[in-house]
Amino acid sequence: MTAPALPETPTPSRLWTPKRVLVTRSAAERPHGQRVLARLEAVGVDAIELLPGDRLPSLRGDDDRAAFMAAKDTMALVVPPPSKRELQPIPPSADFRLDLAEGCPAHCQYCYLAGSLGGPPITRVWADLDEVLGTLDGYVGRGAVTSGTLERGGEGTTFEASCYTDPLAIEHLTGGLSRMVEHFGTHAWPGPVQLRATTKFDDVAGLLTLPHGGRTRLRFSVNATSVDRRFEGATAKVPARLRAMSAVAAAGYPVGATIAPIMPVEGWREQYAELLDGIAAAVPAGSDLTVECITHRFTPGSKETLLDWYPRTKLEMDESRRTTKRGKFGSVKHVYRKETMAELRTWFEREVAERLPGARLLYWT
Ligand code: SF4
Repeated sequence: MTAPALPETPTPSRLWTPKRVLVTRSAAERPHGQRVLARLEAVGVDAIELLPGDRLPSLRGDDDRAAFMAAKDTMALVVPPPSKRELQPIPPSADFRLDLAEGCPAHCQYCYLAGSLGGPPITRVWADLDEVLGTLDGYVGRGAVTSGTLERGGEGTTFEASCYTDPLAIEHLTGGLSRMVEHFGTHAWPGPVQLRATTKFDDVAGLLTLPHGGRTRLRFSVNATSVDRRFEGATAKVPARLRAMSAVAAAGYPVGATIAPIMPVEGWREQYAELLDGIAAAVPAGSDLTVECITHRFTPGSKETLLDWYPRTKLEMDESRRTTKRGKFGSVKHVYRKETMAELRTWFEREVAERLPGARLLYWT
């Protein structure tokens, strides 16, 4: 009998090397903090500053732009405040948010983090991962986004690891996602669970042989070629993400395509059709594949931050071409107008069903 062929291991096309790493005293004492330090040393990151206490120094540059770039090139290893320990619901993706970091080294000009994270955009890696994983049993069966729902109850209690970071962008430096995948795959859970992560990176080699137990759904955030080229700086490009998706699907992971943010750019039908066909070609037959569709939106706060970060951006953020959506607490979001939304939605629902017949469309927003 011949052994099954091991999935092809793609070479990562983009690996971030921080120019500066700040480590607080408490973080250096935690087991995960120590593992991250060992990993940083192993990959040759030497600009590591061990701080005498738990306060991060202020990151000043000569001007705002220099300060922004310095922050984007900085990683901090810290223990988050206790308020972060209580996990929060994160609709429509998952029952709970499970953060391993906050911040991201990439430069997407529409970045979801703009306006939602305060302070300079450094990537803060949480050093208390082991303690957080130890609390998760208490959340099983308690969610309301997927747990107990007719449409998505089969996913079990879901935990989303990509709300405030791109976990694969920093995996070579932290190993945090692997640690989570192994815990979800091997722990004796009191009920069904699923870890969810989404990424614009392709560094999946370290994940392929982990005992994932089918309990982690790895999704790849993908987009039309022109959106990727113009707006998604310092990420792995979409074809590389699709190769990574192919490899993890072949390694037995449930996979997903997060098509986001959908934009009605010139030639959008052709470009998104090409993308859907690319996904179909990447995913081996019989894979467990889901699709999530998120249209582009912005808030007054995110627009201000993004224009500050990327002043020459060509990203359309014109309130007069949008409809305002108000949240429960008076928050404002600018989304596409009803007719545009209906046109996009009808097209995507039809084409996803036709081009990816085995996939489940989880939601449209
Ligand atoms: S990959 Fe995600 S988190 Fe990172 S810059 Fe792009 S949108 Fe922001």
